[in-house]
Amino acid sequence: MTLESLPSNEEIPARIIGDVAGEPQQTLLLITACLHGNEIAGLKALRYIFEYLESNQIPIKGRLIALLGNRKAYMINERGIQYDLNRIWHLETIHNIEKHKKDSPEHQELAELLQVIHAIPHQKYQRRVFLDLHTTSGANGVFAIATDTSDVRVLQGLGAPIITGLAGKLKGMAMKYLDTLDYESFAFEGGLHQDPEAFYNIILAVWRTLEHLDMIETHVLPQNIVEKAGIDKLVSECAVPKFLDVHYVHHIKPKDNFAMKPGFRNFDFVRKGELLATDRKGGIFAHKDSFLLMPLYQKQGEDGFFLTE
Ligand SMILES: [Zn+2]
Repeated sequence: MTLESLPSNEEIPARIIGDVAGEPQQTLLLITACLHGNEIAGLKALRYIFEYLESNQIPIKGRLIALLGNRKAYMINERGIQYDLNRIWHLETIHNIEKHKKDSPEHQELAELLQVIHAIPHQKYQRRVFLDLHTTSGANGVFAIATDTSDVRVLQGLGAPIITGLAGKLKGMAMKYLDTLDYESFAFEGGLHQDPEAFYNIILAVWRTLEHLDMIETHVLPQNIVEKAGIDKLVSECAVPKFLDVHYVHHIKPKDNFAMKPGFRNFDFVRKGELLATDRKGGIFAHKDSFLLMPLYQKQGEDGFFLTE
């Protein structure tokens, strides 16, 4: 893939997926989808939500605005083109974005996202919430990622396991920057990239978030949407702990030749000493009993896996 062969701007879907507002203007919910371009379930789910709100004339209390992340990577179904768009939100980069926006396609995307975000009158709202939507390359990847600012009651309302201690271990995430703008930030991983269930999980997660933030009166989603979502399954049926804390991140570089051992799923329990992956130096083993998270089964990515307890 060369930069010249990327689609031109005209062919790329709009940055703003949806933007609706109504009285009282107390709460602002900002959502991003496709910060990783190949994670398309979030975009589809948001399109469904905005369509559903409109066709059923459901008023929003506050403002709901959703943005498309890495539009160029989305067009070619890649996680990113040159960088991971969810690892470049450094304050130094953002404060000098005019200078940095030519650094890479992702820096250009960041500059355009910041333009929209900075135009939102944040101060107008008593409560600002940021939700970042993702999907995973390993099976069973349905969970919420908490930050220091997120409201645990909102996250518990989602029904999925809650991961703490992760956001602090990764640098340059969008959530970290939105925290500095006084947003309560969290992320939701909806499941396996191409699994239709991820689409339903994300619809339900966004809906539950709107309910918990009191941004919609009680309106029910169609029963077939709720039935197809497996968001509650991990905690209720698979006995995955409701809260897990990340104690280890395996960072990787392309030259590592990292390869995850096949067959792992999110939340698999691994024993101390168990072989998890290999790289050019040999085997990579669990250093203590843990629940495995986000085993990497795609070429692109800067984190091989996470261990939680
Ligand atoms: Zn992602």
